[in-house]
This record gives sequence, structure tokens and C-alpha cells, in this order.
Amino acid sequence: MRIASQSGRAVLVEDGMCLDIAEASGHRFGAELGDLYTDWAAFRAWAADGPAGLRSPLDPGRLGPVSPRPRQSFCIGLNYRKHAEEAGWAVPDVPMVFTKFPSSVTGAVAEIELTGASVDWEVELVVVIGERAHRVSEEDAWSHVAGLTIGQDISDRRTQKRPSGAPQHSLGKSHPGYSPIGPVLVSPDEFENPDRLRLGCSLNGEEMQNGCTDDLVFPVAHLIAYLSDMLPLLPGDIIFTGTPSGIGSARTPPRFLAPGDRLDSWIEGIGEMSNTFVSGPGVRM
Ligand code: ZN
Repeated sequence: MRIASQSGRAVLVEDGMCLDIAEASGHRFGAELGDLYTDWAAFRAWAADGPAGLRSPLDPGRLGPVSPRPRQSFCIGLNYRKHAEEAGWAVPDVPMVFTKFPSSVTGAVAEIELTGASVDWEVELVVVIGERAHRVSEEDAWSHVAGLTIGQDISDRRTQKRPSGAPQHSLGKSHPGYSPIGPVLVSPDEFENPDRLRLGCSLNGEEMQNGCTDDLVFPVAHLIAYLSDMLPLLPGDIIFTGTPSGIGSARTPPRFLAPGDRLDSWIEGIGEMSNTFVSGPGVRM
């Protein structure tokens, strides 16, 4: 099953066509994609029944974030060995967790305002929670997942590395628009192996990252078990699972996003998202 948010309305997506979920269900489900996650089991059952209704062509230019208002948004650092190396850190022995505050969430075709001259890219597999998860085992973890999508953990390295000597991650990764996710949410059963997906991104057509999620130090099931042991994961919550190597700040010379750049991100079996960048108000590049 593939779902998306088109012009703010939840749609089922199939072969380039979409079905308005609120209309087709006789308003059993709400118009917004975020509403579905609060009633996920019922929605899954309804969608599995092959609902009928008038279908219209999907318009990729009108797609918004696949979880528009997550209550919690987690991000995992240093979760690929080669990326930990390029960042100059040891591979952690437990997941390194921070947050990308929910106000930073945007869609797969969003234009993003840069906050400075050291803003970097990080393509990531993003997990959206369907069923509330509290103290779940690794074996049971995937059954709490609504689906997978593409994310970019856009990061202002200058903010991220302050204060000196005690850097913090969340603020520099939470500017408005710094968490694009989309273009569609794909349920786990659609993948032959949801733990082995190639992912990457290119900047203005030049490949920057190319990895595979089977390299994750802590795979999806482990992350859900670990996080849900600390606090309940709520329907609609998102988890950025970490980025493979190839970020801009680790290049020689370092490379950062500039106004006019186009960042294309892809994950096997999900699709592609394309974000462009402009200078934010009062920002000197
Ligand atoms: Zn990241």
C-alpha cells in the first residue's frame, strides 16, 4: 500500500493514480493524512479491501509530508560505519538519538530556505509509526510500522557544532523545512526485504551519497525496540534512521548547499524526492 498527502488530502496511490480516502470511505476516515495514523488498524483493513471510487492522476508537484504533524520526531546519528568514520566519531555502542523538532517537517518537493553557508545534506530512510509502540520486542517491532519514506536530515553544521566543546544536534537540524519527507509512504509488506534498501542523493545531478540500509549499525527493529523501551512511540511519529557516507562537510574541500541548488534523494522501492534551496531572509551566503 502506498499513501500520500496531495494538496493536504490523504490519498491512496496506485499506478500513478490516486483515490481520495475521505471521499471513498464515506468520511469514515478524515481528510488529512495525519488522521489515518490515529486509526491505523481500521484504515489498513479498509485499504486491504480494495476500496472503489473515482481515481485521478497523482500530481507529484502537490505532494506534502507523509506525516504532516508528528508528535515526536527522532533522528539517529552515526548509524552507518563509513559515515561515523567520515564524521570523525567512533561507532556508538547504543543508538545516538536526538530530535528534529516537528515544525521542521515539510514535503518532498518543498523549496527550503537556507540559514547560512554551511548547510549540509543527509539522505535517510524514515520510518513512520502506525500502531503505538511501548516496550516492544525487536521481533514485534515491524508490526508497529505504518510505512517507510525518504527523508533528508538537512543540517546547519555551524549551529550543530555550537557551543564549542559541547556540540548539540537538534537545533541546527530543526530550522523550518529542514526535515523534508516523502513523496509517498510505502507499507513494509510492499518490500521484498525492508531491511535492505539502496538509498542515495545527488546535488545538481552529481551523485553525493549511495548506500544500503543493510549497513545500518542499528536496524529499524532494533531502533524501535530501543526507543520504545524509553518512551511510547505514537501513531504518526517519525524516525530518521541515519545517513550513509558522502555528506558535504566531510568532503575535501567541504561542500555545502547554495541558493539555486537542487537536491534529489531516492530510496529503492519508494521513489524520489527533489528539493530546491533559496537564501533565507537576511542570510549572507
Ligand atoms: Zn542524520
